[in-house]
Amino acid sequence: MISSENYGIVVHGGAGVMSNLTEAQQKIIEQKLTKTLIASYQILENGGSSIDAVEFAVSEFEDSPLFNAGKGSVYASNETQEMDASIMYGKNRLAGAVASVRVIKNPVKLARAVAEETSHVLLVGDGAETFAKKNGLEIVDPIYFYSEKNLKRLKKLKNKVAENSSVQDKIGTVGAVAIDKAGNISAATSTGGMTNKMPGRVGDSPIIGSGTWAQNGVCGVSSTGHGEFFIKYQVAREVCTRMEYLNQSLKESTTNIINELKDIGASGGLIAIDKDANISTPFNTDGMIRGSITSNKTLSVEIY
Ligand code: ASP
Repeated sequence: MISSENYGIVVHGGAGVMSNLTEAQQKIIEQKLTKTLIASYQILENGGSSIDAVEFAVSEFEDSPLFNAGKGSVYASNETQEMDASIMYGKNRLAGAVASVRVIKNPVKLARAVAEETSHVLLVGDGAETFAKKNGLEIVDPIYFYSEKNLKRLKKLKNKVAENSSVQDKIGTVGAVAIDKAGNISAATSTGGMTNKMPGRVGDSPIIGSGTWAQNGVCGVSSTGHGEFFIKYQVAREVCTRMEYLNQSLKESTTNIINELKDIGASGGLIAIDKDANISTPFNTDGMIRGSITSNKTLSVEIY
């Protein structure tokens, strides 16, 4: 293994309207990010693989009610919760994803199992859950995901839709992108989707090339935002494509794309890492929960 000095991890906890976060809530979020980043970075520092680091970080967020993924998933219009996740390993384009799952404690772990244990990339609904049971993944009763707060959010949003007033919800998908000492890039994303979505709606998070992309020698990306746009503009892959074919820097490529999305009314952001462990985290919303640690040991956690 060629060991590189340039390695690191970047994570996000969603982009959107953050102005209603109290200082105490911000602090709790920042603490969770810091703790998760330090533990994920340890995996890389010990010579572990980037795919282990991103899976670990995302599953930590899925276990927390703070984010819109796993435990904290938002509600669809019929008051059910359906989760999407994906993971990709840039060394060999190994990729796995799940969509519309309802009883999987950690959708990102199931996405990895799809990548490693099947010849498919994306499993949905009942088929994905049956596969999870056979593979020993942790299954939970839907009550595990119950959230009074998220139900209130759904009701509020429904009222706004009925009033025809502008609908801006705090969105809080999670993601992680890392490069390890061997130069392997991985990315993972997990979400409960968007509040008040139609049952059966699938966003960008489990779509390889939209919500998640990892390509050794170029970059890795995890997106968050209004998923339909991120699918139509193939955002995660587009970041790497511009770097590869237009020779753009990570910063140039990512910021241009997020600005272009803003111009067409698509809100969101992304986190990305390149082959030299440079990091970029642009967003066009009023905030994006994000943090990183790289091999120069700088830890950064920000919301605005
Ligand atoms: N991109 C996610 C989706 O459309 C939502 C989010 O990032 O908050 O499902």
